[in-house]
Amino acid sequence: MIPAEFDYAAPDSLDEVIRLLSENGDAKIIAGGHSLLPLMKLRLAAPSLLVDLRRVGELTGVSTDGDTLKFGAMTRHHEVATGKFGLVSAAAATIADQQVRNMGTIGGTLAHGDPASDLPAILLAAEGSVTIRGGSGDREVAGADFFEDYLTTAVGEGEILTSVSFPKLSGYGYGYEKFNRRQEDWAMVAVSALVKKAGDGSIEDVRVGLTHMGSVPLRATAVEDALRGQSVEKIAEAAELAAEGTEPPADLNASQDYKRHLARVLTKRALLAASQ
Ligand SMILES: Cc1cc2nc3c(=O)[nH]c(=O)nc-3n(C[C@H](O)[C@H](O)[C@H](O)COP(=O)(O)OP(=O)(O)OC[C@H]3O[C@@H](n4cnc5c(N)ncnc54)[C@H](O)[C@@H]3O)c2cc1C
Repeated sequence: MIPAEFDYAAPDSLDEVIRLLSENGDAKIIAGGHSLLPLMKLRLAAPSLLVDLRRVGELTGVSTDGDTLKFGAMTRHHEVATGKFGLVSAAAATIADQQVRNMGTIGGTLAHGDPASDLPAILLAAEGSVTIRGGSGDREVAGADFFEDYLTTAVGEGEILTSVSFPKLSGYGYGYEKFNRRQEDWAMVAVSALVKKAGDGSIEDVRVGLTHMGSVPLRATAVEDALRGQSVEKIAEAAELAAEGTEPPADLNASQDYKRHLARVLTKRALLAASQ
């Protein structure tokens, strides 16, 4: 399929990106292009102007500030996957294949807001945040407030997601379990878990993120509430609550019930890995 005609700009500064977006109402940012180009080829998106971020140096690089890890929006999945960033790397390493990981970006996958993608639920579970820049400056949005609906995030018209921040979560173990038919596929369901144990071996803190269990990424709060302050022996019992309150989208791969079953099984596995 051939996309509709469009103009193309590759500015080398954020100011120029913001200017182009503000002057062209239906312009679209292109980062890795691995979600946008298929949509354009199907003519589900037909922007009049593509603003390419690849030359904007301010959007690249990973930095550390105290207990925070900060990824520029144009950080490619490959760099995240191979960077020893704990749970974030574990999840990024499962994205598609090497070609997709070489092009796809952390900013693009979060701004796209596909609940089947791997990194959105990680942002939620790790309680990270994103920085968004628009004509009136920067604003920081917590992961919990960022995903508004299916393919809809807090990035507004004329705005750009510039960076993604995760707390380092020292002292937390992690587990990531993704179920798909083929290695390069999106998750039918995936579960991310973070566990911090107290000195006596009990669970001091626990976070569980659910991928593809609704129109947005979710936290399995019933599991978390059932486990906080408890022994790790309770993991199997608590994992049975993983699908509580979820409305997973049924598709050709899995019914709602099967997805709920997967959520329970994967939650148990991810929690056991995280509590080693
Ligand atoms: C065959 C295939 C398999 C895949 N499998 C997986 C998988 O298993 N797991 C997974 O998580 N993903 C998967 N993906 C998606 C991949 O991770 C993409 O990289 C990701 O969805 C989008 O990132 P991108 O940089 O390519 O964004 P683009 O396609 O360039 O952009 C996507 C959307 O986000 C907007 N956007 C991009 N960057 C910004 C920004 N900085 N600020 C504001 N808006 C922005 C664009 O305007 C567009 O609307 C797969 C893709 C393909 C082609």
